[in-house]
Amino acid sequence: MNTSIEITLSELKKFLNEEQISVNLTVRELHSKDESYHEVSLPDIVVFPKETDEVSQILKTANNLHIPVVPFGRGSSLEGHVIPYDNGITIDFSLMDKILEIRENDLLVKVQPGVTRTQLNKELKKYGLFFSVDPGADATLGGMAATNASGTTTVKYGVMRDQVRDLEVVLADGTVIHTGSLAAKSASGYHLNGLFVGSEGTLGCFTELTLRVYGIPEFTTAARAVFPTVQNAVEAVTSILQAGIPIARVELVDEESIRQVNRFSETNYAERPTLFLEFDGNEAGLKQDVEFTKEIMEDHSCEEIQFETDNTARTKLWDARHNLAYAYIHGNVGKKMMVTDVCVPISELADAVVFARKELNSLDLIGGLTGHVGDGNFHAIIMIDMNDAEEVARADSFNEKIVHYAIDRNGTCTGEHGVGIGKQKYQALEHGAALQVMEKIKIALDPNNILNPQKIVKIESTGE
Ligand SMILES: Cc1cc2nc3c(=O)[nH]c(=O)nc-3n(C[C@H](O)[C@H](O)[C@H](O)COP(=O)(O)OP(=O)(O)OC[C@H]3O[C@@H](n4cnc5c(N)ncnc54)[C@H](O)[C@@H]3O)c2cc1C
Repeated sequence: MNTSIEITLSELKKFLNEEQISVNLTVRELHSKDESYHEVSLPDIVVFPKETDEVSQILKTANNLHIPVVPFGRGSSLEGHVIPYDNGITIDFSLMDKILEIRENDLLVKVQPGVTRTQLNKELKKYGLFFSVDPGADATLGGMAATNASGTTTVKYGVMRDQVRDLEVVLADGTVIHTGSLAAKSASGYHLNGLFVGSEGTLGCFTELTLRVYGIPEFTTAARAVFPTVQNAVEAVTSILQAGIPIARVELVDEESIRQVNRFSETNYAERPTLFLEFDGNEAGLKQDVEFTKEIMEDHSCEEIQFETDNTARTKLWDARHNLAYAYIHGNVGKKMMVTDVCVPISELADAVVFARKELNSLDLIGGLTGHVGDGNFHAIIMIDMNDAEEVARADSFNEKIVHYAIDRNGTCTGEHGVGIGKQKYQALEHGAALQVMEKIKIALDPNNILNPQKIVKIESTGE
C-alpha cells in the first residue's frame, strides 16, 4: 500500500466506522468493473457512507489529498462509467437506500441514491403510484439520474431528466447544494437539475433525489405485431404517434433477436421484425386506442398482431423482450456482450437500423438490433470473443460506423447508456465548441479533477 493511500485511510477512519471502509481484494474487484466489455481497474479503497455528512467529509478529504473518487450505484452501466482508471476511492451508495418521503398529493417521492427502481415501485404500489423510468437492469436511482437513464416507457413518460425535481448534491470540495425545489415549474436561476442529471459522477455526488411519480393506470394492454420489414414497423409507429395515440411502450426487435428470444424464452414467435407494444389508461379510452392502432398497423402491412390483457400473458410477453440481453449471453457461451446505443430523429430510424444490420453482416459479427422506436433510439448487442483481437477490432469498427451515421444525421452517439469511457472519443465530433463549455464547467466545479476522472470530458489532472 503506498503512502498516499495509507494517509487517505487514516483520514477516512476519523469519521467512518471500520465496516464502512474496505481494502479487501474481493470488494475492490466487485467495484473494478461494470456490465460492459471495458478493461477493469481496481479502486484502492471502497467506502460505504450512510448519510450526506459522511459523503461531504469523504469528498473534502479526497479533494485535500487530490485522490480520485468514483461514485457507484449498482455497477450496471455499459460504457465503463464506474471503472476507476486512476484508482483511488470508490463510494458505494448501497447503504444509503432509504425512501425518505412519499408525497402522494404532490406526486413526488424523496429517496436516498442507493434505492433501486424495483424497491421504490414495490413501496409505491401501496399508494397506487409508480415510478416510470425502466432501464431494464435493477439500477439505483442515483445511478439512473447520473446517467440520465431511460427505457421502454420513455415514449410516454420521458427520461430521467424529466422526473427529477430536486437533487441534493455534494460537490468536490464537500459543499452540499440543492439543484431544484418541490415546485412543478420554475423560472428561477440556471437549470442545475438539467446539468447534474447525466453528469456521470463527474460533477458531484447525489445524496438525495426528489422524483416525480404517477398514478398506476386503470387498465393495461400489451401487443406483439409482426411486419415484413423494419421500415414497415417503424413507419407504423410514426403513424401511431402522429395520430396522437398515447402509447406507453413500443419496442422494435429485429429478426435475429427474435430468434434468440425464441431459443431462450421457449416462445414460438414469427422470426420477423416485431414490435412489442403497451397501452395504458381507462377502459373506454384504451379500447378506442387499440382499435385505431390495429387499423394503422394493417395500413403498414402488419402480418400478425396479438393483444394480451391478462396480467400473466402480458408479463410473459415483456419478459421475453427484457430477457433479450440474457438470451444473447446464453446463446453465445464464451463470448462477451458489447452493447452500444445511438439515437437519431425518428424519420431516420428505419434506415439507421437497416444500415446497422448490413454492417453487422458484412463485418461477420453475431448480434441483434433492438430499439425504443418511439424515441428514435436503438441498441446493438454484439457478442464478441475478447481474446480475438481481430473480432474486437471489427466490433469497434461497427460501433464507430453507427455513431458516425447517427451524428451525420444530427443524432447523438448515445441516447441513454451514456458516455463513460466508451463514447468519450466522439464527444468533440458531436459537440464541437460546446465541448469546451463542458470542460470549463468541469474545471469550475472540480478544479482538482477528483470526481470520476477521464469520464465524459478529459481534463489534465493536477497530479499531486
Ligand atoms: C441488461 C442491461 C440493460 C440495460 N438497459 C438500459 C436501458 O434500456 N436504458 C438505460 O438508460 N440504461 C440501460 N442499461 C444501463 C444501466 O442500467 C443504466 O446506465 C443505469 O442507470 C445505471 O445505474 P446503476 O445504479 O447501475 O449505476 P452505476 O453503473 O453504478 O453508475 C453509473 C454512473 O452513475 C454514477 N453514479 C452512481 N451513483 C451516483 C450518485 N449517487 N451520485 C453521482 N453519481 C453517481 C457513477 O459514477 C457512474 O458514472 C442497461 C444495463 C444492462 C446491464
